[in-house]
Amino acid sequence: MQLRFATDLSAEEYVRQEAWKEAKLDSCLIHPEGGCGFRKNGTYRRKYPEGTKIARWYCSMGHGTFSFLPDCLSARLPGALTEVEDVIREVEKSSSQEDAAEKIRLDIFLPGALRWIRRRILPIRLALTMLIELIPSLFSACDPTLSSFRCALCVTYVLPELRYHAGPFLQLLPPPLGFGSHPGSKKRKNTHFQHKTGTDPPL
Ligand SMILES: [Zn+2]
Repeated sequence: MQLRFATDLSAEEYVRQEAWKEAKLDSCLIHPEGGCGFRKNGTYRRKYPEGTKIARWYCSMGHGTFSFLPDCLSARLPGALTEVEDVIREVEKSSSQEDAAEKIRLDIFLPGALRWIRRRILPIRLALTMLIELIPSLFSACDPTLSSFRCALCVTYVLPELRYHAGPFLQLLPPPLGFGSHPGSKKRKNTHFQHKTGTDPPL
């Protein structure tokens, strides 16, 4: 199970300050009464930014882990949320996804570049659509675009900020913003505690 590690740090600062050492979880969230073999389980590494580690705990009764993903990092995608936002910003100001793909990914062919872009924009649009319903007090006047949400919150980068506002709903929202399953995934209906002990994202 992925949990939110609330922080204002950028991805680079998180690595430089080794901020994962400050993550704390005193008891198991499934068995707060204890006696389940809950313990700190070191860290796991993410490839980007280089040197990133994520603090992790383990519940042996539930055979699951709790890991603390900082607000700056994408869930189940490499790198920072601001990088995802930069891609979507380019798409939102381009005439088409093809046009944006040709500017963003010169290193791969168009079909691959479009898949790469859609892996980011589709789950973010779904998450924004869900947030308009879930938090109407903040977002009822928004469109499911990042430019609209940036306007509503008056910030330069809105995705890390949304981890704060969407806090109670993060397990429902799809990655890279939320900690739920990918849209369309068969696992989407399963318990959120079934989180593999491997790396995030998988190598
Ligand atoms: Zn437990």
